[in-house]
Amino acid sequence: MPLLVMKFGGTSVADLSRIKNAAAKVKREVERGYDVIVIVSAMSGKTNELVGWVEQTSPLFDAREYDAVVASGENVTAGLMALTLQEMDVPARSWQGWQVPIHTTSAHSAARFVSIPRDNLDAKFAEGFKVAVVAGFQGLSAEGRITTLGRGGSDTTAVAFAAAFGAERCDIYTDVDGVYTTDPRITEKARKLKRIAFEEMLELASLGAKVLQTRSVELAMRYKVRLRVLSSFEDTDENSGTLVCDEDEIMESRVVSGVAYSRDEAKMTLLKVADRPGIAAAIFGPLAEAGVNVDMIVQNISEEGFTDMTFSCPVNQIKRAEKAISEARVRGAYEYGELVVDDAVAKISVVGIGMRSHAGVAAQMFAALAAENVNIKVISTSEIKISVLIDRKYMELAVQALHDAFQLDKAS
Ligand code: ADP
Ligand code: ASP
Ligand code: MG
Repeated sequence: MPLLVMKFGGTSVADLSRIKNAAAKVKREVERGYDVIVIVSAMSGKTNELVGWVEQTSPLFDAREYDAVVASGENVTAGLMALTLQEMDVPARSWQGWQVPIHTTSAHSAARFVSIPRDNLDAKFAEGFKVAVVAGFQGLSAEGRITTLGRGGSDTTAVAFAAAFGAERCDIYTDVDGVYTTDPRITEKARKLKRIAFEEMLELASLGAKVLQTRSVELAMRYKVRLRVLSSFEDTDENSGTLVCDEDEIMESRVVSGVAYSRDEAKMTLLKVADRPGIAAAIFGPLAEAGVNVDMIVQNISEEGFTDMTFSCPVNQIKRAEKAISEARVRGAYEYGELVVDDAVAKISVVGIGMRSHAGVAAQMFAALAAENVNIKVISTSEIKISVLIDRKYMELAVQALHDAFQLDKAS
């Protein structure tokens, strides 16, 4: 039997009527002759609520119990989806991560897949079940504990199952009808892309576009999964939505494909650190050990043997970074004059594979921001992206200005 993976995100299973709507889409594919693995998220808002309960109960929570609590949202929707399908005369059953079993690493709240044995699901398909409804976002560690994959992780569950079961396609049903040139909530000029290259989607996702979890794109790229994003609220067919595919499957040439933003960034500057070999290692080693996700880094020119070191990290990691820095100082790892924290910055990025062969994109980006009087605080570039840190209050304005400057409203 040909097999499809269909993933429904939180808003697509937000209540019983939406679960019914999603189940009807699954039934249609079964009627077309497919076996289906359905991956479900928790009902929208549920995971946030569960995280809130954990944090209220125990501010420095045990990560294993955090995972035990937050994974439960997906269990509810998996069972409800299986029941809904049964009511529609589709032979279905639910699977929690440990039942499959989905083996992951033991990195709680950021676990990665180790293996997904096919035997149990295959046996049920062989018995005549048409649909396996699998709880997304969760797995089982070697220690026998429930793990979760990080926020947005059900996308990654979907792609991993598509790879493990050789699915014909992995369809990600969500509340937008595809991948857009930027978040359609920020500008109504955002345009849906028919296709986007894996590399571009990977950058957009890791730079803040939450329509797909970064890891899901990485897996799809590695295992050549045919990945599609489409709406759960519209009638869809095999041409709907956005196909995430290899670069050479894209006909149009465009320099910039999209604009991404990340709202909750912080900029930290260590003033007056000694400019000597090993200083960067002395600063960033302890930050890495403390689990701070350092993103951009800038070191200024040296004056009289001293320099300033600036880096960015997620705003909710400021406390952790401050602690790591002051402990390193107490240990004598390095000295500094002052630590300046700016907790009100956002990161804006433009992404496009066309940048590889096009000069001048950075200049065009900076000019567009200058025209809106938006000050750039930090810049970083790679082969196919340019990112800047700016004051958070200008974030929407900057996204709109860049979308206009690169004429993304004319993209297709
Ligand atoms: P789900 O609950 O289905 O997983 P998410 O909320 O995680 O859905 O992701 C979908 C959301 O991603 C959209 O509602 C949209 O606001 C946001 N988004 C951000 N950037 C983009 C983009 N470039 N294209 C489409 N959606 C985007
Ligand atoms: N429910 C989880 C979250 O909200 C996983 C997901 O929906 O992908 O992050
Ligand atoms: Mg999501």
